[in-house]
Amino acid sequence: LHFSHLCTRFLSELGAPFDLEGMQLFVSFSIGVALHPQDGSDAEALMLNANTALYEAKKAGHNLYRVFEPSMNVKLLHYVETCDALRQALEQQQFELHYQPQIDLHSGQVAGVEALIRWRRPGHGLIAPGAFIGIAEESGLIVPIGRWVLHEACRQAAQWQRAGWRPGRMAVNLSAIQFRQGVVEQDVRSALDASGLDPAALELELTESILLQHDEPLMAILAQWSARGIRLSIDDFGTGYSSLAYLKRMQVDRLKIDRSFITGLLHEDENQVIVRAMIQSARSLQLDTLAEGIEDPLVAEHLKALGCDGVQGFWYSEPLPAGELEQWLQRRAA
Ligand code: C2E
Ligand code: MG
Ligand code: MG
Repeated sequence: LHFSHLCTRFLSELGAPFDLEGMQLFVSFSIGVALHPQDGSDAEALMLNANTALYEAKKAGHNLYRVFEPSMNVKLLHYVETCDALRQALEQQQFELHYQPQIDLHSGQVAGVEALIRWRRPGHGLIAPGAFIGIAEESGLIVPIGRWVLHEACRQAAQWQRAGWRPGRMAVNLSAIQFRQGVVEQDVRSALDASGLDPAALELELTESILLQHDEPLMAILAQWSARGIRLSIDDFGTGYSSLAYLKRMQVDRLKIDRSFITGLLHEDENQVIVRAMIQSARSLQLDTLAEGIEDPLVAEHLKALGCDGVQGFWYSEPLPAGELEQWLQRRAA
């Protein structure tokens, strides 16, 4: 096609550095294409659709072009509407946190809870994070949303401590976008200060993708959190590409073995081999392990025999609103 050749040529010509009084400047370009007559009969309609395609190109990365397709408008509309609704959700406090207990396999005690966000969206019921975290990340709204999560989780944990509840550590999920914008250190600090929570009662769940974009500032932040006693864990471990030795160097304390290895653990030889190897090598590096997604007590027993330190899953409890978690703790203690 003629225009695809043209786009590729534009991008490769423009990809070369520009010389600005001896300075080499790199600029990235994105191109959106709309074709007459199928994508619009007048200039206005064509520009509008080219812009939609441009937006898709930018989203896909740098130095790419995209050709308009009608489905792009549907996606864009969904994106724009969800962003508006998320902004409103922040203002009107439609988010809530549910807490899922984590069990220490050595003592059998509740060792902590993980805070998981929910969106009580008017007219839509309770929405799970899978349906909106992606858009929140793409739009950058995850930064103020993540800030709210940190504050609310620390506030709740401090309140439980003052009331004499012992749900253990509070684990909070962090998104890579919060790191990219460089505000996460400040957000953690102010959530701890505002709540008065002991930093040793806070755990931050990072993803392998956060650590793989490692640079000096990130290492400094992790070292500083670690020095304050904040525990660092790697969520969904095994789905990324990081090595254990590397995680250890980055001050990580704990691996959360991804649910995909745990489901069917008893029946799938391959997963048994992988999980055993993960636990053993984590151990030899003094890294703690917690298995996610336990739905069967036999799986927990098996993991205990393998030397896994902790478990979390529907078998023990689904994520619960604060009040229901208190009742759950009470029932368990009785
Ligand atoms: P995650 O951090 O790996 O959280 C575990 C997810 O597995 C939760 O889903 C939890 O409800 C579910 N789960 C727990 N036990 C079981 C089980 O036994 N079986 C099955 N099938 N599922 C189980 P949820 O709450 O829908 O959260 C999904 C993901 O959304 C989280 O995965 C996390 O990546 C993200 N997320 C949740 N809250 C936040 C947040 O506050 N900030 C950020 N950045 N991400 C969040
Ligand atoms: Mg998590
Ligand atoms: Mg996980």
